[in-house]
Amino acid sequence: FRERDRDIWDIERRIIGHLLGDSAEKLDQLTADSIVIAHDLTPSQTANLDKHRILGFATDLGGKTSHTAILAHAMRIPAVVGLKDITSHVRNGDPVIVDGMRGQVIIEPDGDQVFNYRQEQMAFAKVQSELDAMAGLDARTTDGTDIKLWGNIEFPDEIPAAVNNGATGIGLYRTEFLYLAGNIAPTEDEQYLAYKQAIESLGGDKPLTIRTLDLGADKLMGNDITPVDERNPFLGVRSIRLCLQNLPLFKTQLRAIMRASAHGKIRIMFPLISNIMELRQAKMVLNDVIEDLAEQKVPFDSDVPVGIMVEVPSVAIEATKYCNEVDFFSIGTNDLIQYTVAVDRGNERVANLYSAAHPAVLQLIRGVVQSAKRCDVDVSLCGEMAGDPVFVMLLVGIGLRSLSMTPPAIPEVKKLIRQVSIKQCERIARKARSLETDRAVLNYLRDETRKLLPDVF
Ligand code: PEP
Ligand code: MG
Repeated sequence: FRERDRDIWDIERRIIGHLLGDSAEKLDQLTADSIVIAHDLTPSQTANLDKHRILGFATDLGGKTSHTAILAHAMRIPAVVGLKDITSHVRNGDPVIVDGMRGQVIIEPDGDQVFNYRQEQMAFAKVQSELDAMAGLDARTTDGTDIKLWGNIEFPDEIPAAVNNGATGIGLYRTEFLYLAGNIAPTEDEQYLAYKQAIESLGGDKPLTIRTLDLGADKLMGNDITPVDERNPFLGVRSIRLCLQNLPLFKTQLRAIMRASAHGKIRIMFPLISNIMELRQAKMVLNDVIEDLAEQKVPFDSDVPVGIMVEVPSVAIEATKYCNEVDFFSIGTNDLIQYTVAVDRGNERVANLYSAAHPAVLQLIRGVVQSAKRCDVDVSLCGEMAGDPVFVMLLVGIGLRSLSMTPPAIPEVKKLIRQVSIKQCERIARKARSLETDRAVLNYLRDETRKLLPDVF
């Protein structure tokens, strides 16, 4: 009973609300511009927020690379997550400022604060419109090296905006959001149409990297596809593991992807591979699907590149072993960091220990890039780190020539790339790797980035 007391308080609050005639606003059908203050928002609640009415949100729970925060960035919604107890400080109707740049929420701001933030809002809009003008320019360093800048998306309708931001391909399409949007799994035809819409809106020449279902952990569905009773969901039946334990679900998705491959350049990417046998099993299922399609004379591209996300340390350490079995690697630092430093990416209480600048993380990324180069396998990086200007020179200096990021981040990253040479980046990467702590690495990279992007920092 002690464990249930929150439920009882919740029931009390709702009964009183009904007696008073209050009606709760639905997050996807707000009637006025609003800021949402919540204990937590799941990725699917965030995806369904009414983009036109939500001015920002702040939550008690969450981390900077949780899927809720990633979506907020993609949807350009100012957000601060992981504030621990914001819900106990704000009452309904309080004016608040959500400063997503600094990670601050100001409750009942005074006149000066409102004035200063209005000024800042205008300055930000000006910088944004200057950045928007970068879309048509090449992402080329001063010594003439092209860096591929691709977009990460959750829904096909994000593609036009990604292309407007300058994406020359999609390096990560998180297809699980198609499942999270409803309570039942989409049919093969529904998926086929979504993938076809995505590839067609990209235009013929730009590749679309479709990542197979990454459900589980923090992305749960309200039905029995995703397990609900795991003690350690991030280490449990998540992602490719869930697909390999549920072959009809996996095959349905692979069939839809292969059918869509008849309409453009599609690449297939398996997430959370942690073991070479898992990769071989996934490829066998894909081959079965391909054989069935061929037998049924359904058109598809017989040359679809197949790659993996490198987001588990076991694969990063042994990347060379995977070279012969994949066409490309995509380094998923959001998970790679959490599994390397043993920090849940969505847990605000340990967020200070979650760092892309951790020397061990840098060593793993560099190792993967070097292995890929040695065996001539395409490699890119699609974690949030790719779109953070602070890390761009380091990543290029380590040897990456392809970065995939949330589309609104592309112009700023491009602006930076156009001001540096590969030599400069290599020098910065060498220095960063020689530093002892993540703090020292971060401070050094911030200082170097500030010199080139003074408007942003
Ligand atoms: C990652 O883990 O870095 C990644 C890009 O995938 P996701 O954020 O969807 O887990
Ligand atoms: Mg991941």
